[in-house]
Amino acid sequence: MNNQSVAFIGLGVMGYPMAGHLAKAGYKVTVYNRTQSKAENWVKEYPGQMAATPAQAAAEADIVFTCVGNDEDLRSVALGDEAILSSLSKHSIIVDHSTTSATVARELHQACQAQNNHFIDAPVSGGQQGAEKGALTIMCGADESSYEAVLPLLKCYAKAVTLMGPQGAGQLTKMCNQIAVAGVIQGLAESMSFAEQAGLDVAKVVEVMSAGAASSWQMVNRYQTMIKDDYNHGFAVDWMRKDLGICLAEAKQNQALLPVTELVDQFYADIQAMGGGRWDTSSLFKRLQAQKNKSNKNR
Ligand code: NAP
Repeated sequence: MNNQSVAFIGLGVMGYPMAGHLAKAGYKVTVYNRTQSKAENWVKEYPGQMAATPAQAAAEADIVFTCVGNDEDLRSVALGDEAILSSLSKHSIIVDHSTTSATVARELHQACQAQNNHFIDAPVSGGQQGAEKGALTIMCGADESSYEAVLPLLKCYAKAVTLMGPQGAGQLTKMCNQIAVAGVIQGLAESMSFAEQAGLDVAKVVEVMSAGAASSWQMVNRYQTMIKDDYNHGFAVDWMRKDLGICLAEAKQNQALLPVTELVDQFYADIQAMGGGRWDTSSLFKRLQAQKNKSNKNR
């Protein structure tokens, strides 16, 4: 039994299994979720307790984990009324697993410092499957001693954890990840669409390619569902647009050039307009197919 007390705020697709891994490892876990029924389900499934507010969950915790939506969601659970910082004891650590801007990470770092707490931005990659299997990749922005203190807990649900630099560096690294992923998925979608137009067996084409230099996680894990036109799973387009918005805003500040990312962001806006905000990001293929059908009809 680990005698550290932890709180977990946000039991969504990602947070629910991550909090579960901590409970299974023997940590004393108190969970909070805005929609209470998810917390009720969680305490039925795992040893631990639930709290009525983030402040109540955090009151006894040495480490508080958050995994919510965007910058505003994080501010509201950390800084708002009945929020984490209102009850956190001195020297406790907040670890945020949401994907947010680096700006909000630095803002929370300062708010924590002002009351002798510590903040770590720790966005994740690996999706729902990675969270459930405890095989996430975590990129951290932190001071070294806080990082060392939380590392054994992060290893309960991660296969790789890396300290990237001070607070904000974790989110900047996650932006690099999303920029790379956006281009990779569009490339895969175009390749599959081209194979279709060329009259090739699309599955066979992808299987050949995945043994060579064009292979990627997206190619290996998504081509079958793309062929089946199945997008009701995975990483939602709405979340990807949030992430790409963060990347494009940061690029305005650091003057990085992101021409493909800008374009793919607009392609995802098209998918939202098709009603696909909750579809997996591999639906870029469906967008191309829909455009092809439209141009065939107009001929
Ligand atoms: P999700 O299933 O939509 O869950 C979001 C969670 O945050 C829910 O528990 C939600 O509570 C809570 N929440 C949102 N806004 C809140 C607020 N203002 N106050 C209190 N609670 C709030 O999302 P998810 O897929 O777990 O993603 C969570 C974070 O991880 C996001 O930042 C996302 O970008 C990132 N991420 C997701 C994936 C993925 O594959 N899903 C992969 C990597 C990173 P309710 O239950 O009440 O709505």
